[in-house]
Amino acid sequence: MLSVRNLTKTYRSAGEDVAVLRGVNLAIAAGEQVALTGESGSGKSTLLHLAAGLDAADSGEIWIGQDCVTKLPDTGRAALRRDRLGLVFQQFNLVPSLNVEHNLAFQARLAGRHDAAWQTELTERLGLDRLLKRYPEQLSGGQQQRVAIGRALAVKPVLLIADEPTGNLDEATADEVLALARDLVTRTGCAFLMVTHSARLAATLDRQVTLHNGLVA
Ligand code: ADP
Ligand code: MG
Repeated sequence: MLSVRNLTKTYRSAGEDVAVLRGVNLAIAAGEQVALTGESGSGKSTLLHLAAGLDAADSGEIWIGQDCVTKLPDTGRAALRRDRLGLVFQQFNLVPSLNVEHNLAFQARLAGRHDAAWQTELTERLGLDRLLKRYPEQLSGGQQQRVAIGRALAVKPVLLIADEPTGNLDEATADEVLALARDLVTRTGCAFLMVTHSARLAATLDRQVTLHNGLVA
């Protein structure tokens, strides 16, 4: 489902070149759940951003299904992201002016993939039934992240990409939110790539990979 081949990315900062990714290879099968770990600054977020087409690589290829992300123009990458990917970040990134119900439907409506029955199921499974009319500022962190996960899965993506999705949550809430996410990913049948600092949380996914010295081991 996701295939990353010989991916390189160098940042130039303060006149100095920093080779963050030096030939990364990573393959994730349909429905597979993979945890990406690595020290702070090892390039985990960079890799996720490239996979989501949010930034351009220097060389190498990224395939999502039949689409070569690294060869698509900006418009094509944006469409792929909207229609076929779910993205969740440490900051919950909900739309402050929309209530829970409309935040949940936001991406799916943009993608023309809104499915009322699926949204209802997501709402129930995520325990958001009684929160639908609330606004993000009226929710706890764990509740906001449940909405963000629901929004990402409402499009029935082929791949859910999450960058430290539980990084702003306490341990008990992190466990609960990730358990819900894993169940829903399994229900959706999508692949899942999650960055986490926590070896404990990483161990709950199918496979663990580590980014070190610009390479995935
Ligand atoms: P991680 O998510 O593993 O903590 P990042 O991918 O955020 O790592 O960053 C990897 C390295 O690239 C770090 O040294 C960081 O400072 C650098 N970096 C990230 N983004 C940029 C950028 N836009 N410009 C310059 N350097 C960057
Ligand atoms: Mg990061």
